[in-house]
Amino acid sequence: MPDVTVPSPTDAVSYWLAASPAGPEHPPLSGDGATDVVIVGAGFTGLWTAIALTDTDPGLRVTILEAETIGYGASGRNGGFCQASLTHGLANGLRHFPDELAILDAEGLANLAAIEAFVRDNGIDCDFERTGDLSVADQPYQVDELKAWVDVAAEWGEEVVFLDSAAVREEVHSPLWQAGLFRPPAQGRDALVDPAKLVRGLARVCEERGVVLHEQTRVEAVERRAGGVRLRTDDGALLDADHVVVATSAFVYRFAWVSSAPFGTPVVPDVYRMTASSSSARSAQSVTGCRSPSSVRASGSVTRMTWAPLSAAPLAASSAIWSQATMTEAPESPR
Ligand SMILES: Cc1cc2nc3c(=O)[nH]c(=O)nc-3n(C[C@H](O)[C@H](O)[C@H](O)COP(=O)(O)OP(=O)(O)OC[C@H]3O[C@@H](n4cnc5c(N)ncnc54)[C@H](O)[C@@H]3O)c2cc1C
Repeated sequence: MPDVTVPSPTDAVSYWLAASPAGPEHPPLSGDGATDVVIVGAGFTGLWTAIALTDTDPGLRVTILEAETIGYGASGRNGGFCQASLTHGLANGLRHFPDELAILDAEGLANLAAIEAFVRDNGIDCDFERTGDLSVADQPYQVDELKAWVDVAAEWGEEVVFLDSAAVREEVHSPLWQAGLFRPPAQGRDALVDPAKLVRGLARVCEERGVVLHEQTRVEAVERRAGGVRLRTDDGALLDADHVVVATSAFVYRFAWVSSAPFGTPVVPDVYRMTASSSSARSAQSVTGCRSPSSVRASGSVTRMTWAPLSAAPLAASSAIWSQATMTEAPESPR
């Protein structure tokens, strides 16, 4: 197994996880047991899977084993951009799936609407808000690209508005930004959520449906047995199941059984880090409209407003501060 250091929850707690109440604890798995389906990992993938399974068969016994705490992985520490696009934007969709794009687009819109309906119907208070989207140019050559994009987007049913430098600064007062492309909330394609509240809300719904959750339960091995699988945890507990769903996302490389299986190659993402803007950058920015501007640069810099301090520095409760995620290349790949 590769030698990769993963920060512990105590030295790398996420802003979102720290900013809202944790909810009930779920004791580790102890002893031996059996279930119909076991899901490894309590992030969005694991929790939505449990919800889909119990939608299909409310009587199914589903158990989720989580090595750390609910939402410990990317689900509890992401940007909270909840968008309809299944292709990470129209441009990417046109590049990779031009023939299927109309179907993907319709599915994506339905998906976002279904997420909104689910959180509303299940009382998940995750600050779901239809915000619209703002792409910004910080280089002169990007200004013409943004202008040209208005017509391309219109062909695909997206109405976007070009903002010149004065107009984009009306939205967000940054001296860096030279133009922008605004997709209004009425397009129904963009929302923001508090990801920690969402992931914890999904865990609550799972419990209400009878799904059993265990935190601080690291699965060390998954072995085939007649008619199913047997999972062994770091404490030596054993759980037999008919089926296993490995929902560990980027952590899959630590899973020797999966990473050596013939059916898949783990995909390890680039390093993604989320930082607060410096206080000087913060004071240079103010917002009047869209709350989630993102740069059109390939490095993938996205910004959104948060409402509580990211650091210990005291800020007025009403202060809007920015969190910024910048995708950079990983210094070395764990595999
Ligand atoms: C910084 C950042 C920003 C992002 N921003 C956005 C965004 O704005 N919008 C968006 O849509 N997506 C965003 N993403 C992507 C999104 O967060 C992920 O696609 C999503 O959270 C993946 O969910 P998951 O459940 O598959 O994985 P995770 O949330 O990583 O969950 C995997 C879980 O498995 C557990 N686990 C691992 N190994 C074991 C084991 N052996 N035994 C038991 N449990 C184990 C982990 O502790 C973890 O809790 C972002 C990602 C990052 C990193």
